Amino acid sequence: MTQDEVLEIFRRAGALLEGHFLLTSGLHSAKYLQCALVLQHPQLAAQLGQALTERLVEMAGPPDVVVAPALGGILVAHEVARAAGVRGIFAERESGTLTLRRGFGLRPRERCFVVEDVVTTGGSTRETIEVARRAGGNVLAAGALIDRSGGKTDLGVPSAALAVLDVPAYAAEHCPLCAGGSRPHKPGSR
Ligand SMILES: [Zn+2]
Repeated sequence: MTQDEVLEIFRRAGALLEGHFLLTSGLHSAKYLQCALVLQHPQLAAQLGQALTERLVEMAGPPDVVVAPALGGILVAHEVARAAGVRGIFAERESGTLTLRRGFGLRPRERCFVVEDVVTTGGSTRETIEVARRAGGNVLAAGALIDRSGGKTDLGVPSAALAVLDVPAYAAEHCPLCAGGSRPHKPGSR
């Protein structure tokens, strides 16, 4: 699956919008990305999971387990695990720290993929890599559906994304779109 094909799936699902947006952070951006809108379609989620699995296996070999941070990564871990024929688990926050709960665990040196829906700064992926290592896992690679850092994020392990976007966001007073005379709107508000 090429990057253009992936982005077309996102656009058709309304998960990637282009215009002038007011993000929940208060910043303005010309692009809005909401992976949940594509992952709400199980067939699309399965296609994307299959494509990401192929990329990761080609790069790092087959995994024993797929680990993701909740909430954004859960469906991606599920679909990558399905495509790889292994189990998928997730870490969630407990008192602010990502932790494996619900009886999830890893066997010593178990080969892990760590996956996310979107990598922005890589913070939650790196944190999940640490969770997997603390649980005894051997992290082979990290993957995301979309890397919105423009490929600038170093996760410390081999990594792949189905599409790489550079999505600058601006404070209102520095927004070139506002300077051009347009007004931002909240995604989903029209
Ligand atoms: Zn603006």
